[in-house]
Amino acid sequence: MKIDAIGDSITEGYPYSRQNSWVEHIAQVLKFEILNQGICGDLTKGMFKRFQRDVLAFTPTHAIILGGTNDAAAGYLLSSVSANYTAMVVMSCQQGIIPVLGLPIPSLLPEEEKSLIEYRSWLKDYANRENILYIDFYSPFLTAVKAGQAARLFIDEVHPSLEGYKLMGETAVYSLERVNASLDGQSSNCEYRNRGENYLVEQILPNLFRIEIPLPKIPLKTINSYVFKGKERHLIIDTGMNREECFNAMISGLAEIGVDLTMTDFVITHYHVDHAGLIARLVAPGCKVYASEQDRKVIIDASGQSTEKYWKSVQDYGAYHGFSPEQLRTAIESHPGFRFMPERAVEITPLAEGDVLSVGGYNLRCIATPGHTVGHISLYEPDWKFFISGDHILGKVTPNISQASDDEDALAVYFSSLDKVYHLEIHQVLPAHKTVLNDCRGRINQLKEHHFSRLEEIWQILKNKSPLNAYEVAARMTWEIKREWDEFPVQQKWFAHGEAIAHIKYLEREGRIVSCGEEENSIRWAVN
Ligand SMILES: [Zn+2]
Ligand SMILES: [Zn+2]
Repeated sequence: MKIDAIGDSITEGYPYSRQNSWVEHIAQVLKFEILNQGICGDLTKGMFKRFQRDVLAFTPTHAIILGGTNDAAAGYLLSSVSANYTAMVVMSCQQGIIPVLGLPIPSLLPEEEKSLIEYRSWLKDYANRENILYIDFYSPFLTAVKAGQAARLFIDEVHPSLEGYKLMGETAVYSLERVNASLDGQSSNCEYRNRGENYLVEQILPNLFRIEIPLPKIPLKTINSYVFKGKERHLIIDTGMNREECFNAMISGLAEIGVDLTMTDFVITHYHVDHAGLIARLVAPGCKVYASEQDRKVIIDASGQSTEKYWKSVQDYGAYHGFSPEQLRTAIESHPGFRFMPERAVEITPLAEGDVLSVGGYNLRCIATPGHTVGHISLYEPDWKFFISGDHILGKVTPNISQASDDEDALAVYFSSLDKVYHLEIHQVLPAHKTVLNDCRGRINQLKEHHFSRLEEIWQILKNKSPLNAYEVAARMTWEIKREWDEFPVQQKWFAHGEAIAHIKYLEREGRIVSCGEEENSIRWAVN
C-alpha cells in the first residue's frame, strides 16, 4: 500500500510539524509508504486543483481526501464542496487509485460546525451510495467532546492537540487495516454509476458532466457528450448519431443531471455523424448551435435536401483514388454518415479561433484544430486547464486522418494542430471517445510517431511496387483488424483508403513520391 493524504492544516499537523500529524502515525504503525500533502488554509477547491500534481503524479494505491474545514469557515455551499470531492474521487478512479474520504473532525465554532454537519452527511451518503471507503474521524471526537474532554483534544476551536492528532491517527489505522484486509489491493470501489441501462453519467468537475452515449454497430462503441450546467443556460458538446439509442441515452442522461433542453446551446466539434447527427432533434427554438464555418457547411450539405449532391462528390473522390464503383456504393449506403445525419438542416452559428463561451463558471476558448476534419474545433479552459479535444486527440485509438478533396493536406494540417495544442498547459484532456487523459504532451508525441511510421510504411510499399493507387496502397498497409484485406468490412476499407490518401498527399508534397499521371479518371503513385 502506498498512501497519499491530501488535505488542509489538520492533515499537515498544524501547529506542530508533520512528524506529529495523524498521517505520520499511520506510517509509524502500519509501515506503509505515505505522503502528507496537507497544506495550511487549503479549500477543497485548492485540493482539487493540485490533485494531479500532489496525488496522481505519485501513483499511490490509496488517496485519503480530508478537507472542508476551511470551506465551512469561508461559508462555501455544500454544492461546491461536494463537486470538488466528486471530481477528486473521479480522477482517482480514472487512474486506478482507490479514494478514501475522511469525515472532518468537529469544529467548536457553531457557525462552522453547522456547515460541517451538512458536508459530513453528504460525504457519508455519497460514500455509501458509490461504495467508496471513508474514515470516520468525526465520531470519536464527538464522543470525547460530549464527555467534556474537548480541552484535551483541541488546542483551539479547530485544530487538534498532540493527543487529538494521535486519536486521528489511531482512527485512520483502524479503518485502513480493515481496508487492507478486505480489499487486498483491489479497487472494487471504482465503479462508475452505471444505471444498468445503455448509458452512463459521470461528473467530471463542478457543473461539468460526461454522458457516455452508445454508438450501435460502430467500432468506437460510444461517444462522450460533455454537459455544462449553468445558472441560466447550459451547454452540450457533441451529440451522438440520429438514432433512437443515442436520443434515449441523451434524454435520460440530461434528466439525471437536471438539464432542460429549452435552455441549452450546443457546440459541435466537427461534422462527423457521431458528433452532429442528433443535433436537429435536440436543439430547441431560440437555442444556438455552434460549429466552425468549414464544418458548418458540411453539416448543412450532408443534412436534409442537399444530401445527394454531397455524397456524389464523396463518391467521385473515392473513385478517383481507386475505390471500385461497386464497393463505393455499398460503402456509402452503409456509411453511418449517410444514414444517421440530421434529417433537417439546423441553423449553425460559426465559432472561430479565440471565441469564448462562458457557462457554469467556466470560460471555454475555441481553439481551431483542423486535421481530423477541415474545420475541427476544440475548447480550452485556461483557468482549470482542461481541454475538450473532440476527435483531435483520443486516448487508446488513433484519430482517423483522411481527406475529402485534393485541395486539402489533412496530415500536414493535423500535425500543426497537434503542435499548437502541445504548447497549451493542459491537465486534463476530455476526448469525444473513451476515457479522460492526463498526459496530453505524451499522447501528442505518440500520435505523431504513429503517423511518421505510417509515412515510412507507405513509402516502402511504393518502393517495392509501383505505380499503385491509394486503394492498392491501403490494401498493403498494416491495420489493427487482424484479417486479410479482402475480408475487411467495406466501411473499414473506406476509412483505411482515406488514411492512405492523406499520407500519400503528404509524401507527394514532401517530394518523396510523385503521381504517375491519370488514367481512366484515376490516379497512381510511385517513389521519386
Ligand atoms: Zn470524427
Ligand atoms: Zn468521433
